[in-house]
Amino acid sequence: MIDTARALDAGDPLAEFRGRFDLPEGVVYLDGNSLGALPRATRERVSQVVDAEWGRDLIRSWNSADWIGMPQRIGAKIAPLIGAQPHEVIACDSVSVNLSKLIGAALQMRPGRNVVLSEPGNFPTDLYMVQGSPAAQRLAARDKIVDALDDDVALLMLTHVHYKTGEMFDMAALTKAAHDAGALVLWDLSHSGGAVPVDLNACNADLAVGCGYKYLNGGPGAPAYAFVAERHHDALHNPISGWMGHAAPFAFSDEYEPAAGVSRLLAGTPPVLAMAALECGVDLMAEIGIEPLVAKSRALSEFFRAAMAEHCPQLECVSPADAPMRGSQLSYRHKDAYALCQVLIARGVIGDFRDPDILRFGFAPAYVSYEDAAKAVNALAEILENDEWDAPQFKKRAAVT
Ligand SMILES: *Cc1c(COP(=O)(O)O)cnc(C)c1O
Repeated sequence: MIDTARALDAGDPLAEFRGRFDLPEGVVYLDGNSLGALPRATRERVSQVVDAEWGRDLIRSWNSADWIGMPQRIGAKIAPLIGAQPHEVIACDSVSVNLSKLIGAALQMRPGRNVVLSEPGNFPTDLYMVQGSPAAQRLAARDKIVDALDDDVALLMLTHVHYKTGEMFDMAALTKAAHDAGALVLWDLSHSGGAVPVDLNACNADLAVGCGYKYLNGGPGAPAYAFVAERHHDALHNPISGWMGHAAPFAFSDEYEPAAGVSRLLAGTPPVLAMAALECGVDLMAEIGIEPLVAKSRALSEFFRAAMAEHCPQLECVSPADAPMRGSQLSYRHKDAYALCQVLIARGVIGDFRDPDILRFGFAPAYVSYEDAAKAVNALAEILENDEWDAPQFKKRAAVT
């Protein structure tokens, strides 16, 4: 299996990009869907921002280094990865906060309707944000969503690629169904952006959010992004109406007047150091381009899936078998998934565990090799063979799993 993997690596058009990341020796990193790896350019760029732009140029850098333009500039670079126009995307805040803003915006755009429809088992923060909003939450199983659309639904809010199983929704079909029912749609692209084909405008999507620290490699807690289709820009209301979203923040007016377009989604001052790191990750993904990323993701995950079926048949794959129907991840069910995950990590194979019994492997296409995939399957096969995982130290849960 290792020889086949090495041959595939030799023919991989993205192989050269692995060297653009700073990956630790001896680690097989299959968790880029939770925290992307460190691009080499990031370290230098962040030092430059700290030393020259902050340390030396101080407050002048808001203009001279265009710190103030970072949210729009980085948003514009993310746009081609998700089928958006450059002025429809802005980088800011966390996914959670952007969800809250766009839920509020959607309710304002659909007066007389107060339901946000989603699915049970969506990523927790997505549901919590609805629960903390003035909207009423309605949940329907994946195959019952269309039936649950009615005149009360202001917003259909779904995560495009499910974080646990990797299942992907049909964005075009569900967006159309929601529009036919008079509702808006908000797509969470956290597990999609930079890994799977997304064409928001071809699907006629209204609103979207996505994550900066997963496949975009923006660093731990990197700012997220938000998309609003151009046709909604004039009506867009941001319930977190902060000064950075004002038409003229430095006029210091007492009255809020929103900036044009997605810029009004800004609330407070951009986190410049985090934005600088995010921009390095986004630049690298933009340089590779979404099509090669998608092609590699599918081929690599297919390689892993076939190898697992052969060498670890005890583990049940819960992700769709058809690569275009899933995200860049594969999830497996095992009653002792947590302990298996800990033993793998102790051996330098980093995947993750999702409650209660899911072992999840992400295939960040920019830097994961076929050899990585083969090594992970080999390690797992050995662990299952010798019951190594069945020891108390591997069953104790850490704070972050
Ligand atoms: C990772 C992820 C988030 C993260 O939200 P933060 O507010 O940035 O912590 C939200 N939604 C989904 C679906 C995710 O996968």
